[in-house]
This record gives sequence, C-alpha cells and structure tokens, in this order.
Amino acid sequence: MTTIEVLGTCHHDCPDSCGWIATSVDGVLTSVKGNPAHPFSKGELCPKVNRFVGRVNHEDRLLTPLIRTGAKGSGEFREASWAEALELVATEFTRVRESYGGQAILPWFSAGTQGLIQIVGTSNPLFAKLGASKQNGSVCGAASGAAMATVYGHGLGTDPLQAEHSDQIVLWGTNTRLTNRHFWPTVDAAQKRGAKVIVIDPIQTITADKADQHIQPLPGTDVALLLAICNVLIADGHIDRDYIDAHTIGFDEFAAHVKPHTPSWAAPICGLDESVITDLATSIGAVPKTMLRALIGLEHHYSGPTMYRLLSMVPLLTGSHKVLGGGFARSVGSWAEFSDVSITAVAGLADVVAPGVERRALDQPRLGHSLTELDDPVHALMIWNGNPVLSMPDSGAVRRGLERDDLFTVVSEQFMTDTAKYADVVFPAAMETEMLDVMPSWGHLWIGWNEPATEPLGEAVANTELFRRLATAFGFTEPELHLSDEEQIALAVADHVDIDAMKRDGFVRVTDYPVDHLPYADGGFHMASGKAEFVAESFGAMGVPRLPDWVPIEEGPGSPQAEVYPLFLQSPKKATRFMNTSYSGLAEHADKEKAPHIELDAPDAAARGLSEGDSARVFNDRASLTLPIAISDRLRPGVASVPWGYVDSAYGDGIGSVNDLTNARDTVFGSGSNYGDTLVQVEAVRFAP
Ligand code: SF4
Repeated sequence: MTTIEVLGTCHHDCPDSCGWIATSVDGVLTSVKGNPAHPFSKGELCPKVNRFVGRVNHEDRLLTPLIRTGAKGSGEFREASWAEALELVATEFTRVRESYGGQAILPWFSAGTQGLIQIVGTSNPLFAKLGASKQNGSVCGAASGAAMATVYGHGLGTDPLQAEHSDQIVLWGTNTRLTNRHFWPTVDAAQKRGAKVIVIDPIQTITADKADQHIQPLPGTDVALLLAICNVLIADGHIDRDYIDAHTIGFDEFAAHVKPHTPSWAAPICGLDESVITDLATSIGAVPKTMLRALIGLEHHYSGPTMYRLLSMVPLLTGSHKVLGGGFARSVGSWAEFSDVSITAVAGLADVVAPGVERRALDQPRLGHSLTELDDPVHALMIWNGNPVLSMPDSGAVRRGLERDDLFTVVSEQFMTDTAKYADVVFPAAMETEMLDVMPSWGHLWIGWNEPATEPLGEAVANTELFRRLATAFGFTEPELHLSDEEQIALAVADHVDIDAMKRDGFVRVTDYPVDHLPYADGGFHMASGKAEFVAESFGAMGVPRLPDWVPIEEGPGSPQAEVYPLFLQSPKKATRFMNTSYSGLAEHADKEKAPHIELDAPDAAARGLSEGDSARVFNDRASLTLPIAISDRLRPGVASVPWGYVDSAYGDGIGSVNDLTNARDTVFGSGSNYGDTLVQVEAVRFAP
C-alpha cells in the first residue's frame, strides 16, 4: 500500500484560496483536509470543499471524451476515444476557419479553476494561431480592477488582514461570513476589541446579522451614497488636506463636483434617511482607522466601476492610508501579479506563435449576445472553466445561442453541466487534486502551491494537457504550444520567488507588499505622476468619464420598465454548500440546501395576494420562472430576491435559472457585468381546479 500526502491549494473562484493537505492511497484520493500551517485558512476548509473527496470520486464524473448523439441540450452522448474526439474538433474548427475566417472561433473561459497555468495556459497562443476571436473583460474583477486603476494607477489595495488594527470596518456589499469566511475571524476579533462593524447591503445577510449597524440602500444606488459621503467629508472638514495636496491630483475639481451631491440629494435615490447618510459619512471622517472592504458583489451594476472609483477616493480624502487599519481593501490578487506571478506570461506567447495577428475581442459577460446578435457570427465555440448557461447574465440568450445548428461547441468539464449538455464534443477535465498549479489568491497575500495527489481519474486531463493535445490535433508544432506544466510555471513565476519553499510549505508570501503594511502612506501611486487622481484625465481616452458621476439606473426606478416590472431583483449567493454553480448538481450538496424560491418582504407579498409557499411567477421581458414564495424580513420593500447557483433542473420550470432574468448590459467601463440592474414583476400562479 502506497500512501502519498501532498500540499495543495483550493482552486475555486473564492478569495480565500485555502491551503490543504491531500492524501491518496494506491493512487486513489482518500482525504482532503485544511492545512493547519496555512496563514489565512489556518486548517479550515468550507462546507463545500470538506467533501472534495466525494466530488473527485463521484460516480457522475466525466471520465472519457463524449460526442453528441441527441439534440443540443438533451445531454445525449456516446463515449469516444481521445483520438476520435480531437480529430472531430480539429476538422470542425478548421472547416469553420476556412469557411468564415478565424474570428468565427471563440474561446470562452471563466474561473472555475483559477490557478495560474490552468485558467488560461497555452490556450491563448493556440487560439491566436487559429486567428480566433478573443475574450475580453469578465463578470468579476475586471471592472473593479480597471476602476481602481483609474485612481491609483493599479488595482493594488490594502491587505484586508490589517483590519485587525481597525477601529471601524465598513463591509460594503460583501457577505463576508458566507463568501470570505476566513476573513471573518479578523473582523470578529476587531469587533470584540471594540471596533464598529458597519454592513452596507440591500439585503440583511448573515454578515449584517453580526454588524453593529446595517445600512440597507436600494440596490445599485451606491454611487449616490458615496458622492454624498464625499460631500459631507469635504463640507464638514473631515479631510486630510496635507495628504491630498501631497499625493493627489484633481481635488478642487472633485470637491466642486460633489458639492451638489448632499445627503438630502442622495437620500431619496438610495431610499435612506438623510441622517443615516450624514452619520455614516461623519463616522468615516471621524475614525481614522476606518477600513473600507468591498469584493465583487458591488461591481455587478452598470455603475459598478464608478462605485469602486469613489471607494478608492474616500481614503484619499480622509488620509486613512496613513494609518494601520485604514485604507480600502479590495481584491489583493493584484499584488501577486504586480511582483511575483504573471498570468500573461504564457498567454502572451501568442505574440511569438502568431505575431501581428489581429483578433476580434468579445466580452465574456455578453456571451449570449456574441452567440445570437453578431453580424459576423461565431460558428465554433470552446468553453472551459465555466458553466455560462447558469452563470452569465441573460443566460437565456446563451442557451439560444448554443442551440444554433450552425454552431459547433466544445466543452471541457468535470460533470455533465447544463452547459455541457449543449456541446458537440465534451472533454473530461481533471480535478485540482489531479493537476499541478500555482494559486495566486485575491483574498490574501500568500501564493499557493498545488501538488497533484493522484493521476486524473479515467481519461480526464488538466487544461494544460488538453491544449497541448489540441495543438497536436491541429498540427501545430511550435514549442510554445507544447510547454510542460513545469515550463509554464517557470515562465509565469518570477525568478525571485522561491518555488522550492512554495513546494515545501504550500505557500509563499507576496514579496512586494510593504513590510509596514501601509502601501500608500507616502503616496507612491502608480500613475505617471506618482499621484492618485480624482479626475480621470489619463483614462478619458479609454472611455472613462472624467469625474465619477451618478447615472440613473437604466433598468431601475423611474425607467419605462419600472412601470411594468416594479421590483429590483437581487440574485445573491446564499447556499453554504455551493461554490457558484459547482456542487449544486450534486445531490449530496443540493439536497441539504433550500430549493430555489422567490423572497419578498411581507407588504410586497401581501400586495400580490401571496403567502409563504404559494407558487408565483417572477418575470420580465427576458424570462419567467415559477417558484414558491418565501416571505422574508431581510429585504426592503421593492426588492425581490432569488438565490443563485442552482442547476436548471432545480427550478420549477426545469429550464432556465435566475440568470435568465438578469441584465447583460455592459458596465460604464471595464467590460464587467450588470446582474444587479434588473427589474422584475412577481405574480401569483393560479392553477386550474
Ligand atoms: S471554496 Fe473558498 S473557503 Fe472553500 S476551501 Fe475553497 S478557498 Fe476555502
């Protein structure tokens, strides 16, 4: 009997990037446990990954390539050899390229496996060689990172763990206890020491339950709230003029800009009392050690990037960057990419393999549009690391696109997802305990190593191997398309990073985060001027508005749609055993979670003649779902909530999820997503007697 124990890192699209110890016996995974030595996760995994062995060894795993035999979406396939499946893909992609041009091929991926080499790897040079379209933007991270860069010159923010020094922590649109659970102990300890915890969220989440104050604005109105906060900070003198003068540009113009945006102006927009806004601003101004914390939920609006611009500006006004426990803590993945790893090192080999090739860029969040609306259509699609039929906004358009007879679709997956059901060819994908990777985290400052504990089950392969096999199938012999995993890591990890230490310990610390934990105490912003910018002069050419301004929500109160669809739809993560759409297809997880439902507050339900458990329709022009009603005191009037993450079959109608209802409009800049600006109506379903 041979027992192997290796150190690894969770690969899921989660800020915590927990360290684990994986054990296999005679090539079979037997245990995945938290690594007690990991500085952030400290030996604890979550209710999803605590059952990872069951996921890896699950009887429903895809273990061979599959070729479609039934209608698209039927999920009817036959097993195939790798040789047959690869030949079919190469033949079809070549046909598409010769018939329509390379841009008719689209690679699409998300962060299902978010490791350094398994998320993109050599796929980019491969698709560049084909002259394919390329993916632009992302549903998460792209818009907020771009927004912060317009102010600081880079997405680099404060390490959230510095909240241990905070006297006040503002958790803005982030449900820390559910989606960033290993950060919560830091917040909890600060609160027990006397720090005030404020949660700003349209929903009373489980994090809001623990807060000292919960502020519940109308969804998507945070720009108005932030403008009013800046107004009060400046008008009442809660600003650090020395810091502003030394380290920023454009303050006077910004101050004039926010002058009309008083709390009384913002109050009706946000649905808050004027005094709540004034008191919040005063508190932020009066407590130097105030940390602002936001992750990805906030950016899912047209104005999401503007929210992040303004959040970045608040510490510039108050000077809280100068003190431990102050600042703005967003994703800290930028620190790893800034100094230690490069996600573009391997992807950038496109310039070597296909120099000078111009590629059409198509937005990741608007896959439905790309598949249904283009004058120059996509005819071949390759999907990995994602499940867009469930996860993309306006996913009904994704489904309609995938149904097209003139579209050839390839999906690499671990299970038969709602997206894989539409594929012409499915490749079996390896799990994280079966492949090598390096894991930069966006929630903390440790870069994780991931050593495989076993070979992939069946005929599954890692993404890196998939793209090597595809390159061979296309007859491409460039060495850049056939780099081993180790060679890719060597390219993507900076020379100064101690890979041996990472292998030995399971993690290394990002090298460039300042030892005093005060990245901007003395300015040092990454703009050409070295100063932070209130006015986006240098980004204006990229379509960024000069000043962060409130724009009424196109699909929001006062819009034509609001007359027909008067309720704001929220689609929060709520299930503790789901990881985005992963795990919800497994009965072991889904059966322990509440089934999909529509939450309404009691007056909104009563106005529609609805009681707990009644069957109701939630709908707009994009879609309609029939679900039971759950009366909730966690919402404010005018807001409906349908939790996210469930597979299609979990919904009453059997086809379509909450994202069939959500809005796929672009963000103001940054090519992000706009799930949150969605209006719906809810009405009772009357069954014939
Ligand atoms: S999903 Fe997140 S919390 Fe759970 S083990 Fe992975 S990184 Fe940790």
